[in-house]
Amino acid sequence: METVGTFLSQRRTQGLLRSLHPSTQRCRGRIQYQDRWYLDLSSNDYLGLADDAHLKQASTAAIEQYGTGSGAARLLSGDSALIHELETRTAVLKGKPAALVFNSGYQANVGIISALCARGDAVLCDRLSHASILDGVALSGARLFRFRHNDVEHLESLLVKTAGRFRRRLVVTESLFSMDGDMAPLPALVAATQSHEVMVLVDEAHATGLYGPGGSGLVAEQGVTEQVDLVMGTYSKGLGGFGGYVACAQEMKDYFVNSARSFIYSTALPPGVVAGNLAALDVLAQQPERRMELLIRAAWLREKLTQRGLTTRGNSQIIPWMVGRAALACQRSEQLQSRGFWVLPVRPPTVPAGQARLRLSVTCAHTREDLEGLLAAIDEVRDV
Ligand SMILES: *Cc1c(COP(=O)(O)O)cnc(C)c1O
Repeated sequence: METVGTFLSQRRTQGLLRSLHPSTQRCRGRIQYQDRWYLDLSSNDYLGLADDAHLKQASTAAIEQYGTGSGAARLLSGDSALIHELETRTAVLKGKPAALVFNSGYQANVGIISALCARGDAVLCDRLSHASILDGVALSGARLFRFRHNDVEHLESLLVKTAGRFRRRLVVTESLFSMDGDMAPLPALVAATQSHEVMVLVDEAHATGLYGPGGSGLVAEQGVTEQVDLVMGTYSKGLGGFGGYVACAQEMKDYFVNSARSFIYSTALPPGVVAGNLAALDVLAQQPERRMELLIRAAWLREKLTQRGLTTRGNSQIIPWMVGRAALACQRSEQLQSRGFWVLPVRPPTVPAGQARLRLSVTCAHTREDLEGLLAAIDEVRDV
């Protein structure tokens, strides 16, 4: 049997060993490690809300009023009017009758999928689906079918192949893919499901706050809110806070309250976090310029990279610079770090072998000058 030691030494020789980097401060798109500041291109704090004054103030006020902990799971005494307000407002943002808050996006996916599916069911999901989706399927005991990335024809053939063989079928995709920065063809995808009895779950982790009316997400932007049964997402990325949610029918919410184990058996989010998330929804409504400026800046950076003959993917605020070999991605990352840019390599098993990349995540806090500095550094390291 493989020991822990051999696992680690194999990862090390393959250049795939991961390690932690404790920062000492982070603010305004910058991060400090060991007394040195870097431009942070590795966060998902797209709208720069994680250190926003309005959110901090709302969060602090809630801590003063209610304390730091929620005390219990929601079905015990941990439930609060504040969480219900967050759910009501999340449902409105998403255009759905109801929403249920989970303690993280990870727990939302694991809880939703394992509550809906069991042995004898099938889950059809995009090949690039996030680990939380795959873990939900594994926990559920359902059969997993993966369709080629954003390939609706392949999904159709899997729908035909699985028809009549399973009790319940669930189709899952992300609306904006975290490592490729590209978007799912949602209208075509839901159209393919219309002639089948299936449920559709869309993960909007990276799209919420950035796309669609009021920052609702791509499900709303692409006009498929009615056809998507379950829209999940997180407050931890574009919204600068923490916690996950699913927006759905009221009956579906009631079902999850009674059956999603990651919801039932975990202590409710603390009041400071819930209040911060509520304040993020305020900012989203009041400052649409944040998302507009961000998308313009990201498109500008993407174009500059393309002009240099570098390979990128997708069309969003997430810009993967495709490098190929894992070792090369690590080398480029170190070279950029030494120049003051916190850009991390994304390697297998997170992405397929041979598709290692540097994931550039642009946020509102990055100025044009910041990104020009990044491009100058990239020019220095690209052919070294
Ligand atoms: C980050 C992420 C999650 C998990 O959300 P957390 O709130 O960070 O646990 C789920 N799905 C996708 C696609 C993600 O990128």
